[in-house]
Amino acid sequence: MARVALLLGGNEGDMKRTLQTAQRLINERVGAVMRCSHRYQSEAWGFQSTQPFTNQALEISTDLSPIEVLDAIQHIESELGRNRAAEQLEKATTGARYTSRPIDIDILFYGSEIIDEERLQLPHPLLAEREFALQPLAEIMRSFAHPVTGKTVGQMLDAVRQNTAETE
Ligand code: AMP
Repeated sequence: MARVALLLGGNEGDMKRTLQTAQRLINERVGAVMRCSHRYQSEAWGFQSTQPFTNQALEISTDLSPIEVLDAIQHIESELGRNRAAEQLEKATTGARYTSRPIDIDILFYGSEIIDEERLQLPHPLLAEREFALQPLAEIMRSFAHPVTGKTVGQMLDAVRQNTAETE
């Protein structure tokens, strides 16, 4: 059994409902949901959008391998209306790296596994830079240590906030 941290987010449609449905499908198909954070709102990151993002972190317990978890969450994203082909087209047209989407599910940690493959990097490579991911995660796994840096989620959140305060 592996302890896995997921980040759910999106900025289109009824986010409360989408997150509830995503959580139910994850619980049925990926692994039992042990803990879940509140929903947090934040400004869109990396692109201009009028719709703020809603994010929520989940801790699940799973028997699936890391790639099986990725396959399952991508399947759930598609079922909940995520259209990667349309996003690629929008990114190509606007030159933006990110686009609006009804649901995005990322794997933040898979236990203490370290993976660096094209389809899957673990821990999530941008975690330490993303307050919108660390804030909900800290609510449920504050003392969990990053397997590479040794920093806890709480320490990473403090560091990213410090950084933001210094650059403002
Ligand atoms: P997305 O943020 O959903 O647009 O993800 C784009 C790609 O990131 C996907 O096709 C995944 O194969 C890849 N990816 C790499 N590492 C991860 C991870 N830890 N969690 C989720 N997706 C990942």
